[in-house]
Amino acid sequence: MVQKKSEVLMDLSLRRSIFFPSAEIYGDSFSGFWDYGAYGTAIKNRIIESWRKDLVEKEGFVEIDGCQILPEKVFVASGHLNNFNDPLVQCNKCHSLHRADSLLGKEFELTEGTPIERFDELIKENKVVCPKCKGILGKTKKFNLMMGTDIGGTGKLKGYLRPETCQNIFLDFDRIYKTMRKNLPLGIAQTGKCFRNEIAPRNSILRIREITQMEIEVFFNPNKINETENFEEIENFKLRVLLEGKKSTEEIKAKDLVSKKIVSGKLIAYYLSRLQLFYENLGIPRDKLRFREVGKEERAFYAKEGWDFEVETSLGWIELVANNYRTDYDLKNHSKVSSKNLKVKEETEFIPHVWEISAGVDRTLYVLLELALREETKKEEKRLFLSLSPKIAPFVAGVFPLVKKEGLGEKAKEIFNELLAHKLPVFFDVKGSIGKRYARIDEIGIPFALTVDFDSVKDETITIRERDSTEQKRIPIKNLAELLWKLSVGKTTFKEL
Ligand SMILES: [Zn+2]
Repeated sequence: MVQKKSEVLMDLSLRRSIFFPSAEIYGDSFSGFWDYGAYGTAIKNRIIESWRKDLVEKEGFVEIDGCQILPEKVFVASGHLNNFNDPLVQCNKCHSLHRADSLLGKEFELTEGTPIERFDELIKENKVVCPKCKGILGKTKKFNLMMGTDIGGTGKLKGYLRPETCQNIFLDFDRIYKTMRKNLPLGIAQTGKCFRNEIAPRNSILRIREITQMEIEVFFNPNKINETENFEEIENFKLRVLLEGKKSTEEIKAKDLVSKKIVSGKLIAYYLSRLQLFYENLGIPRDKLRFREVGKEERAFYAKEGWDFEVETSLGWIELVANNYRTDYDLKNHSKVSSKNLKVKEETEFIPHVWEISAGVDRTLYVLLELALREETKKEEKRLFLSLSPKIAPFVAGVFPLVKKEGLGEKAKEIFNELLAHKLPVFFDVKGSIGKRYARIDEIGIPFALTVDFDSVKDETITIRERDSTEQKRIPIKNLAELLWKLSVGKTTFKEL
């Protein structure tokens, strides 16, 4: 039987410790919590580093690092305390817990706004029973997804682990705006953990309880939504969009999204374009990605416009990034509950509007790995490898002495240290046959192998082998650092060497 792609990836991930269940030595540990091993961590860090360069620093945005635990009032203001719920239903017979919306399935078009009584009606009408034991289901309840904790010893101070990273950004906006000498539009970014008490975590790192996000909130003057600098750079860029009510994805130029009023203004078309470009650069093929227009029924009540950035995998379309026009909802409510004036003064006084670009790191990593998975048979030999872009591979190259003896070990170590001094992500390995070392780095997606052999000591050259083609070329050692840097950022390709 042919193994499913998601299963092949899971096997590989466990075999090479890319990601694996947290606290796994305890057989009864919680589901929905995952650890990353050395290669998973390296890939994750490189995704975040690419995001920081392309979407934060390039745009002149600032990055903060806020606390993961925040006081209850923050979530009164944000609406999470009242509205961040999933419909929970319990089986009367086996007592297992389920999400009522997942049990009912997609055909009923259930949204965050569906009243809780509606779930009971639908369960009854459609004779839905417990998927585990076929028992009768109890009444649907609202279940808040936030994880709470007591702060200090009084038992009176309630805190919550943030369910999304954006709240820190709203809380810190006023200080950042006033102290960083920035004008609107001002982007504030943050990467870090957030926590959701998912009722039924599933699909490995796709639906989890401890999540890493990369989030950007762009604060802007709503009257200047069409005064976006640099819009000309992307005006002819073709975005792949699935419009509400349509069955197929179409390509629409950024400027046409604006002129046809599909988006609220140039600012939105600009950041959607930047985001698509970013993911294309990380190696997601164009035909596998789209922005799905989030309909009014499905959107959060405060969102004026929403676009889910989705990628097609063996498990269907996976949402990687939520893009939302949050209007002045967040600052207005924090201002109300905290009694702090959060208006800015630029010509007039107003509360800035917010465009949100909220990306999941774990999902991005999963999708990039699954799309990079290759299995091929050459000369009756089976080979499994990850065709990851050099931009996000755990390392750009492995440095290998052919053998440890006769000075090759020292020579290879010298080259490795020199590349490290240039801050290049490289990896040193001397264990096992050279064939085995190649197979190992192929599996974890390292695009190049640099082999130091007997000729290297004589003529100062080295063999470079490419992962995908397994082709080899001979190159001088003295250009190595520059060449590897060019390969790692996509300024040159192996073919051009
Ligand atoms: Zn049951």
